[in-house]
Amino acid sequence: MKQKIEAFLDLVKERNGHEPEFLQAVEEVAETVIPYIVKHDIYYGKNILLRMVEPERLISFRVSWVDDDGEIQVNRGYRVQMNSAIGPYKGGLRFHPTVNASILKFLAFEQVFKNSLTTLPMGGGKGGSDFDPKGKSDNEIMRFCHAFMSELFRYIGPNTDVPAGDIGVGTREIGFLFGMYKKLQNEFTGVLTGKGMSWGGSLIRPEATGYGNVYFAQKMLETKNDTIKGKDVVISGSGNVAQYAAEKVLQLGGKVLTLSDSSGYIYDEAGIDEEKLAYVMELKNVKRGRISEYLEVYPDAKFEKGKTPWGVKCDVALPCATQNELFEEDAKKLLDNGCICVSEGANMPSTKDAIAAFHEAKILFAPGKASNAGGVATSGLEMTQNSLRFKWSREEVDNKLKDIMSDIHKSCLEYGKDDDGYVDYVRGANIAGFVKVADAMLAQGIV
Ligand code: NDP
Repeated sequence: MKQKIEAFLDLVKERNGHEPEFLQAVEEVAETVIPYIVKHDIYYGKNILLRMVEPERLISFRVSWVDDDGEIQVNRGYRVQMNSAIGPYKGGLRFHPTVNASILKFLAFEQVFKNSLTTLPMGGGKGGSDFDPKGKSDNEIMRFCHAFMSELFRYIGPNTDVPAGDIGVGTREIGFLFGMYKKLQNEFTGVLTGKGMSWGGSLIRPEATGYGNVYFAQKMLETKNDTIKGKDVVISGSGNVAQYAAEKVLQLGGKVLTLSDSSGYIYDEAGIDEEKLAYVMELKNVKRGRISEYLEVYPDAKFEKGKTPWGVKCDVALPCATQNELFEEDAKKLLDNGCICVSEGANMPSTKDAIAAFHEAKILFAPGKASNAGGVATSGLEMTQNSLRFKWSREEVDNKLKDIMSDIHKSCLEYGKDDDGYVDYVRGANIAGFVKVADAMLAQGIV
């Protein structure tokens, strides 16, 4: 088996050797899915995984725009259309200086499995730009978004590819992108999700990824007859996912100890309660400030510059910032401090060695493709509402989100349970996600 996996990975490396994040994501899937393929004749010998690691289409384009000083700026835009076997491509747009083809291919590959797990008919894609929104004026953001969409619009559509937000792309950016798409196509369709409430957005979409992650953590804890209530929770990030993960933890009776951004983390021993969280939301979403400013209002908290929060003693950890933000030494610190549950809000925040440490210690560990799927699932619900020209209530969407997270959890149990009863959620999510996409690909023939 080891040889088969290595031979496959060698082939993928030959073609994508300069794309470390993509190789990391493929390796994790190959190690769990190839043994399953080998045991199941319908998938064996059909190069099905090899077909899945090759994007159906990778679009790269120039984005020229003019900044507030009248200077012409040039960025690179991308859309990776990874797999459309079970539905239109679906996945976020990321605006961050680190964006490149490797990062977007890893995200698009993960998205295929994640979208399959949601039970909704969505293929996988991802896109974005190396544009850095930090420090830009609203007008600069608008001009960039318009320039970006003036090329992307050719490749997307409500039945073809439906992008959403991701790091650096929130409701403001989706608004500017949607405005340009509508102007160029002269049609009002659900071509983007994460829209504002008055122009086609779904209630609960902003909250969905963070809420869904906590619902998933709660499901994992239930398997041990435990709950979030009374737990000390450490969260990284302070963006969309982190904010609503914190809100749901508070609603379920947990205590939030930390939040972070790329400059460091804040630790509030007394707990970040609803009032303090409302301050963070205002700081991050309206003033677009830095998390260290929290101390100006709550001076009893501590700010650790340039560090991540994994050394803080906790029961539950929710990495909600970015990829590769939790390393083996961080995993060991969490385990030494008695952490019993890690549920990923971000995509691939834990490195392979960190995950191995969690598995060895047999704690509850959920990979992002399962635990953060609530965001794209609710985007799927936004698409449905747009097609129906109808709007569900907050409660209706939240209940559907809870049901979807529960179904994803069940799928992980179905494919991830070891003989000793321990659940390997990574294996469970990878195989459950794979089966649906692979079956559709086989049914559609070699295309
Ligand atoms: P936001 O842009 O709203 O927030 C990102 C947060 O992570 C910010 O606090 C940011 O700090 C921090 N961050 C970003 N890059 C780094 C870095 N290199 N090092 C340290 N901190 C960093 O993004 P989201 O909350 O939407 O996304 C967070 C994660 O969740 C990503 O991995 C994304 O792919 C994933 N995700 C998001 C979904 C969604 O619905 N939004 C759905 C599923 C997954 P700073 O402001 O300093 O950059």
